[in-house]
Amino acid sequence: MHPDRSEALFERACAVTPGGVNSPVRAFRAVGGTPRFIRSASGAWLTDVDGREYVDLVGSWGPMLLGHAHPEVMAAVRDALTRGTSYGAPTEAEVDLAEEIVDRTPVERVRFVSSGTEATMSAIRLARGFTGRDVIVKFAGCYHGHVDALLAQAGSGLTTLAVPGTPGVPETATALTRVLPYNDREAVSALFADEGDRIACLITEAAPGNMGVVPPDPGFNQFLAQTCAASGALFVSDEVMTGFRASRTGQWGLDGALEGWVPDLMTFGKVMGGGFPAAAFGGRADIMSMLSPEGPVYQAGTLSGNPIATTAGLATLRLATDDVYSHLTSVGDRIRAAATAALSAAGVPHVVQAAGTMFSVFFTDGPVRDFAGAQRQDTAAFAAFFHAMLDSGVYLPPSAYEAWFVSAAHDERAVQVVLDALPVAAQAAASAREGTHV
Ligand SMILES: *Cc1c(COP(=O)(O)O)cnc(C)c1O
Repeated sequence: MHPDRSEALFERACAVTPGGVNSPVRAFRAVGGTPRFIRSASGAWLTDVDGREYVDLVGSWGPMLLGHAHPEVMAAVRDALTRGTSYGAPTEAEVDLAEEIVDRTPVERVRFVSSGTEATMSAIRLARGFTGRDVIVKFAGCYHGHVDALLAQAGSGLTTLAVPGTPGVPETATALTRVLPYNDREAVSALFADEGDRIACLITEAAPGNMGVVPPDPGFNQFLAQTCAASGALFVSDEVMTGFRASRTGQWGLDGALEGWVPDLMTFGKVMGGGFPAAAFGGRADIMSMLSPEGPVYQAGTLSGNPIATTAGLATLRLATDDVYSHLTSVGDRIRAAATAALSAAGVPHVVQAAGTMFSVFFTDGPVRDFAGAQRQDTAAFAAFFHAMLDSGVYLPPSAYEAWFVSAAHDERAVQVVLDALPVAAQAAASAREGTHV
């Protein structure tokens, strides 16, 4: 079916909004075609404005752990709405949600904000304020929101000096940022040997999901935590994507609890907002007590801890039981196995990688350990695969560099639609492979 209404809306949108979208990856630029405008969503399903239904493997880019419009979350939100939408004064729901997060994770104190970007930005300010140091370290391919200092790319040659990753970020904003290849212990050790006493913090995705899913090598996070501790730098584990998603406790629960390390600061978002704008940063009590009004490091937000968002987040986390995570694991296992089988049968080079319940498919040979590896993908093959899946009623992330998200609502019927779509899409990818002219 032709997406007539989506096309008409996209034309209107492009006239009033840059690229027609309010966040770039929604625009389908990486895969071509017109983004689908969504009218409604329920459970595992999206319905677009042309009336077509899709099994959703984006889940709003992570938040919809329970599926769309979960009846109990909706009831809690409806109930909260009857009491007003924002007070600019503290509420009980904020305390409940903070307790739930402190309960599930190693953080001792937590502060709410409205987006993951704000969470990482504030965590870095706090790390600098606490340590009295300036330099921050990140990994290429890890995304921490659109914070100026974190929109940095590795400089040329062997240097780790960062250059701005986008116009509008002055060199002074990234001058104190160092960018290293992911999973590269030697690069980390060399930088800390060189500049360790200037480093305020190292920030990493607990398991990168923003270049596709690239799990940390066993012991890598532990190594980072130890390296930071040895030089008095803080270890900031960004769990905006992995938190309450990779497992009940996030990626920390998969690595840290076993390996015996604890991040100094953590950031959360996505799942903890239950589909509303809510995020958080938290960590050691002595560090968090540096934060205003207890301490001197300033941080604030008009809608921080918003009662509707905290209600949705709290309802979501309370419903995110062990059963939910076993369901995500089994659904993910089936989709991963079917993707591997279909792409292998079609002769398309690929590798499926996972971190907890998160996974993604790379259109490249062999394991991907870092951003350079992820960039070896055949993006033309992915684009063909994406559109074939979409035509079969499966909504994948419109980029080869993204995790695929399942939910508690992905039932037998939804999974079957995905399994049926994969062989056809794999053939489309085979036909589109760069260098093959079919
Ligand atoms: C999504 C994401 C962010 C940014 O969160 P926003 O709410 O989009 O600002 C930060 N870090 C990670 C790991 C993310 O996945």
